[in-house]
Amino acid sequence: MKPQLVALDGPVAVGKSSVGALLARRLGYVFFDTGTMYRAFTWKVLKSGIPIEDEQELCQLANTTRFDFVTSQDCCLSPIVDDEDVSSRLFRPEIEDLVSLASKIAGVRQALILEQRRLAQRGKVVMAGRDIGTVVLPWAELKIFLTASPEERAKRRYKELSGRGENASLETVLADLEKRDGMDINRAISPLKPAEDAIIVNTEGRTLTQIVDNLYALAVRL
Ligand code: C5P
Repeated sequence: MKPQLVALDGPVAVGKSSVGALLARRLGYVFFDTGTMYRAFTWKVLKSGIPIEDEQELCQLANTTRFDFVTSQDCCLSPIVDDEDVSSRLFRPEIEDLVSLASKIAGVRQALILEQRRLAQRGKVVMAGRDIGTVVLPWAELKIFLTASPEERAKRRYKELSGRGENASLETVLADLEKRDGMDINRAISPLKPAEDAIIVNTEGRTLTQIVDNLYALAVRL
């Protein structure tokens, strides 16, 4: 019996989306990276002009935003915000700067989590994020927490950004990644941490194929 829901958590740039998409494809499931939803919401915050400190207004905004999901590239789901496809804008520096501030607000999380759970109801989902195993889907049959050193993760993210033609130095990428991890780990609500029953998978020095093989074997062995 394969698990209906796979929770895949871990820090910035640990490979959740590449690993998750391949795992989902192999299982015949859909992949949803909840980070894209927090990014999409942050895009809407910027568009609205509401200051990031105004928690009450931001909660209201989260509760009145309509999220839909479309399938893009095979089995991956992307969020659509109020009928607008914002997927090409989610990795801009202005979003990167604010996303962890927007996502530490309890009311914002509540609104987004409702949508994430609604999506999980269909089953056969690999869902990635920070709190999927602990808060969003604590009933997921398989929970994986990926880890790798900040240096290795920064190198991977740097390569990815360079490939996309964006020029950031490795030092800046490392500093940004550590800053965002710090905010995600230390926030009061839904901090980044493995669920007690999560399987910790260290991805350091391993290829994508090796990691996906490892997770697939865990999934089919349940
Ligand atoms: O995974 P990604 O780096 O795209 O996530 C962007 C940010 O969204 C994270 O740094 C975190 O602040 C927030 N996030 C979250 N909970 C999730 C997924 C992402 O708080 N489940």
